[in-house]
Amino acid sequence: MATATTIPRPSYLDALEPILTEIIAPAAGEVDQTAAYPQAALDALAQAGLLGLVSAKEVGGLGEGIRAATLVVEQIARHCASTALVACMHYAAAAVIEAHGPRAVREAIAEGRAVTTLAFSEVGSRSHFWAPVSTATASGESVRLDARKSWITAAGKAGLYVWSSRPLAAEGMSTIWLVPANAEGLRVTALFDGLGLRGNYSSPVMADGVIVSQDAMLGEDGKGFDIMMNIVLPYFQFMSAGCCLGMMESATTKAAAHVGGTTLEHIGQSLADLPTVRAYVARMRIKTDMVRALLLDGLDALESEREDAVLRVLEVKAAAGEASTEVTDLAMRVSGGAAFRKEVGVERYFRDARAAKVMAPTTDALYDFIGKATCGLPLFG
Ligand SMILES: Cc1cc2nc3c(=O)[nH]c(=O)nc-3n(C[C@H](O)[C@H](O)[C@H](O)COP(=O)(O)OP(=O)(O)OC[C@H]3O[C@@H](n4cnc5c(N)ncnc54)[C@H](O)[C@@H]3O)c2cc1C
Repeated sequence: MATATTIPRPSYLDALEPILTEIIAPAAGEVDQTAAYPQAALDALAQAGLLGLVSAKEVGGLGEGIRAATLVVEQIARHCASTALVACMHYAAAAVIEAHGPRAVREAIAEGRAVTTLAFSEVGSRSHFWAPVSTATASGESVRLDARKSWITAAGKAGLYVWSSRPLAAEGMSTIWLVPANAEGLRVTALFDGLGLRGNYSSPVMADGVIVSQDAMLGEDGKGFDIMMNIVLPYFQFMSAGCCLGMMESATTKAAAHVGGTTLEHIGQSLADLPTVRAYVARMRIKTDMVRALLLDGLDALESEREDAVLRVLEVKAAAGEASTEVTDLAMRVSGGAAFRKEVGVERYFRDARAAKVMAPTTDALYDFIGKATCGLPLFG
């Protein structure tokens, strides 16, 4: 189906298309069933230059930004939300490295030689990722990191973690570091066995006396919050919404096909001939299109620095997260027992879609921020 996000069609979506049809879609069922990391998809994205999507052209990347990352994640999520989330975290972390990292690492990412991810959430501060309790302490010329990270997508699979800690010496809420995943003292403590997104490898990671150089600091000491708000938040909010949108599109399409093609033989009608079923499908279509419209408007707001851009950044993930749980629930409902028995192909989206509302910033935290913004109150404090 042609949509506003595909006209005119950018070349990076052309590059993505064969990867979707030949690698990501065929593997999606197995990734879900066996909780396998989608390595073949990551290799293909690297090969096509798509891991360098948000890397600058001067380091060999495609020089794109939030819009492109969002559209790519959306397209991947139509087939495999686990793969989409790994790509999402890579792009969010890569954007931070693009802004503050060393040239050699930027080139490695641009050329598809390095996959990266965000290591923000912690056991201590849970979904309040902006307030790490883990530490960075001076150790001679180096820095010692100690942490109990609660979730890192692609843990042990990505080569680089964009890592948060309390500041080293400065005032402020956090400092950001670039930490190699194979650093001594880092340990993935549990395999991921989630309800959905089963191939995203989101595991807890312990850091016990991990030594990094002072150069591993991304940006200034104590300024991690600015990086989180100015770079990570807009990237993540839009890509997470894109991931939800991709799932909604697929769930709506598959459910509509099922009800149109399934017959009640004794009355000679399809399920789609039932007005009740059609009305639910209509609600799915409307919710999906509402999220797409908000997402596209949000991207326009961001790119044109419109005065409501911050509000749109906050809104888009809350709206998409809620809508995707509703739409995938309706897909299960109209598809009946056939969906429950996994015959329609919507049940995986139903499970996968449940993550967005509890991924930080959670929907309820966003409601609080959006309410404060609307009432003219400060977002923090
Ligand atoms: C599949 C998946 C992948 C993830 N990948 C990563 C990753 O790569 N990197 C990373 O850093 N993190 C990642 N996370 C972690 C994620 O961002 C959240 O930190 C995590 O899901 C929060 O779970 P929790 O149990 O700690 O939530 P809690 O903080 O315990 O929240 C419990 C409840 O309290 C509510 N709540 C908390 N604070 C507020 C508030 N201020 N206002 C209103 N309600 C509030 C929440 O909305 C929620 O309903 C991932 C999570 C998932 C599910």
